Amino acid sequence: MPGVLIAGNWKMFKGPGEAVTFAAALRDRVAGLDGVDIAVCPPYPALAPVLRTLDGTSIAVYAQNVHWEAEGAYTGEVAASMLHELGVAGAIVGHSERRQLFGETDETTAARAAAALAEGLRVIACVGETAEERDAGQTEEVVRRQTGAIADVVGLHEGLVLAYEPVWAIGTGKTATPAMAQDAHAAIRSVLDVPILYGGSVKPDNTEELCGQPDVDGALVGGASLVVDSFAAICEAAARIP
Ligand code: PEP
Repeated sequence: MPGVLIAGNWKMFKGPGEAVTFAAALRDRVAGLDGVDIAVCPPYPALAPVLRTLDGTSIAVYAQNVHWEAEGAYTGEVAASMLHELGVAGAIVGHSERRQLFGETDETTAARAAAALAEGLRVIACVGETAEERDAGQTEEVVRRQTGAIADVVGLHEGLVLAYEPVWAIGTGKTATPAMAQDAHAAIRSVLDVPILYGGSVKPDNTEELCGQPDVDGALVGGASLVVDSFAAICEAAARIP
């Protein structure tokens, strides 16, 4: 991976019109910024217009999920080939909101990752412990198990990036300390040595310290990716990391 990767997960925010306005403003704001790779992950209906807006720039466009089958009777799902045809660069899989609210498991996460990679898409696969698991001292065991499930199916794939997202830090304003992030990332890397993003209340003022940890290769950003100023400031902070 050439630089630190900063990926913005827009979740279920921004329809096509708002997404295009945002993408155009981001494109202008980060033009010429070196030392950081940037990706945005709009909702499905905004993918095509955002791709058109960012055409010719280095900002990548990812989907927020992808199905493991090539096609079939899977209402509400989207196949990797469909995203590929659209020109999408990759997809998030196994986000904790998918795991907690939509029944995603280690196995379905791995299957989604494998299908996307086989199609030539890049993948950001999410792992991370809940507050209860951290309190019970199970953080390393949980992230090793989640990572192992992906490693067993996908192996060491050049298109694969992992994201360590402690569930208790997502959208809560609570951030893992740099030391907590580093420890978890080292545990994950001992199972699968691919780039690993940190996610969980990343903001412009904590980006440099978090992404400056030896085993942290970038950030997956939720809330702060929805505002051009804060997302661009995170990208600028990441670009300053030596
Ligand atoms: C996320 O949704 O992946 C995330 C990390 O959200 P937030 O930055 O809002 O905690």
